[in-house]
Amino acid sequence: MGKGKAFIFTAPSGSGKTTIVKHLLANNPKLGFSISASTRDKRGRSEENGKDYYFLSKEEFRQKIEDNAFVEWEEVYTGNYYGTLKSEVERIWADGRHVVFDVEVKGALKLKEYFGDNALAVFVKVPSMEELKKRLTGRGTESAESLSQRFYRAEFEMTFENKFDVTLVNEDLEESFANAEVLVSDFLNK
Ligand code: 5GP
Repeated sequence: MGKGKAFIFTAPSGSGKTTIVKHLLANNPKLGFSISASTRDKRGRSEENGKDYYFLSKEEFRQKIEDNAFVEWEEVYTGNYYGTLKSEVERIWADGRHVVFDVEVKGALKLKEYFGDNALAVFVKVPSMEELKKRLTGRGTESAESLSQRFYRAEFEMTFENKFDVTLVNEDLEESFANAEVLVSDFLNK
């Protein structure tokens, strides 16, 4: 199997990384999204099983851990598991594309260690914690409990910025799209 490259996008929840990742994927046919497995509930009509995530029961997730099916996995929020499937990376590379990950910080560090120089690890940063809280609340998809867990985790995750290859400050989305495109093309042309 020919090996492609890997792009790891990480950030505190609510920083806009998923929007940036979706933009890149929609505009570059050489990129493929690694669909993670997750045990969290699907967000209403905005998400699809097998597109945004493979939504699994805890039992199914545990079975995959046992089968050694994950490159990495984390209990991101209490009782909610998320993991990168080896089969996703293989599927995308076999298709001649480069794989793109959208994961939280700890998983991103594991992926960077696994893929090494073959990966570019991008830390997406919001201009301030205030802005992050505003965005998370404004999304309107989270319960109060989920919001407070996400705020708490975001503050912790912000301290990991210097462990990544590059930081992308997401102040203005259009600008961030353009900056992300440059990061990708520069890494592919290296
Ligand atoms: P959400 O519930 O908002 O979709 O995702 C919560 C967090 O889990 C986000 O930071 C998201 O990027 C991260 N995440 C999604 N998939 C994975 C994965 O496979 N592994 C890890 N470690 N984190 C993931």
